[in-house]
Amino acid sequence: MKFGGTSMAGSERIRRVANIVRRQQAAGHEVAVVVSAMAGETDRLVTFCREANPLYDPAEYDVVVASGEQVTAGLLAMTLQALGCQARSWLGWQLPIHTDDAHAKARIEEMDSGALLASMAAGEIAVIPGFQGLSGDGRITTLGRGGSDTSAVAVAAAIGAERCDIYTDVDGVYTTDPRIVAKARKLKFVTYEEMLELASVGSKVLQTRSVSLAMKEGVRVQVLSSFIDDDATPADEIPGTMIVSDEELEGLDMERQLITGIAADKNEAKIILTRVPDRPGAVATIFGPLAAASINVDMIIQNVGRDKGETDVTFTVPSADLLRAQTLLEAQKAAIGFNRIITDAKVAKVSVVGVGMKSHAGVAATMFRSLADRGINIQAISTSEIKISVLIDEDETELAVRVLHSAYELDAVD
Ligand code: ASP
Ligand code: MG
Repeated sequence: MKFGGTSMAGSERIRRVANIVRRQQAAGHEVAVVVSAMAGETDRLVTFCREANPLYDPAEYDVVVASGEQVTAGLLAMTLQALGCQARSWLGWQLPIHTDDAHAKARIEEMDSGALLASMAAGEIAVIPGFQGLSGDGRITTLGRGGSDTSAVAVAAAIGAERCDIYTDVDGVYTTDPRIVAKARKLKFVTYEEMLELASVGSKVLQTRSVSLAMKEGVRVQVLSSFIDDDATPADEIPGTMIVSDEELEGLDMERQLITGIAADKNEAKIILTRVPDRPGAVATIFGPLAAASINVDMIIQNVGRDKGETDVTFTVPSADLLRAQTLLEAQKAAIGFNRIITDAKVAKVSVVGVGMKSHAGVAATMFRSLADRGINIQAISTSEIKISVLIDEDETELAVRVLHSAYELDAVD
């Protein structure tokens, strides 16, 4: 069981969490719980680091920011004890959860589960602070923002858990953001691949890395709400959304939707380089320096060459990297040989995702037709086996999401 920051924000909420945990144990489960810091706490700690030293040492940053989860782990263990449960905390370095030494964005390498399994078998509820680990040279590390989801999946994999229930402030994964489309539906199931695509295009329910890890380790993950009453459907009856493999879903033999979800991401910016020489190696001179600066390029279009052997190249980068990318490209102007650089941060990427499109024709045509009917202009397109993304004017984001949600018949019928 994993509880996020809003679920752990304050004594009252921690008591509610303790009750949910106790009920799972009473239902006959051995339980390990992974917790986040109280909502807002990690941000507060990050601010202190910046104030202490703008060029802070990442190893010391980890010492500071890992503390938020230590507090909630101890508090939850105490609260469980107050309810008459046996419980104890296991800090990242006590288990230990071994990571590499990339401070502030460490990766879990392996985890010892012996002590944890023994304590759980003895009837103790194990409470583990998420987000933290131990480097090879014995220092505290953290897994990157939102990393407690990844901790939870790693623990579930290490102990061979039947399920990893991720409790949060929403009751599952939806066909799209319910704040944009009131008729969005909660999905009962979604595959790892779909969840990864949805996460990469703006649906921020889980840390993306936790989904890749769950897929790699075959951990069955349920997303569900911790803001529930005592008479709510028990977690074992799957009130939330299950994230499972394609094969498991196939086995359920249910009527599958063609499209599973629609996501929008406004954190994209468009760059156009005009009159780039149309010759071998030209695009390499553009994307090489961006890659070296760790700037992720997403959609790319190279227009058909004009006469004089020139072409325009359009692509997108995260908005946060736009300025850096622009500066880098200007510095390479002579080497690349472009004429002008045009940028636009007022764009959004809207994506339709679904494993169903692997075996169906016409998904893209429906998307383009529906957007065209509403006069929404498509500026760039990219696809994967289970996703089609288009770049549009940011002001048209909500309209596009609504139009597509009904075009693929995802609207809830009441
Ligand atoms: N507390 C950490 C963060 O805010 C980790 C987490 O909550 O997942 O990023
Ligand atoms: Mg989170």
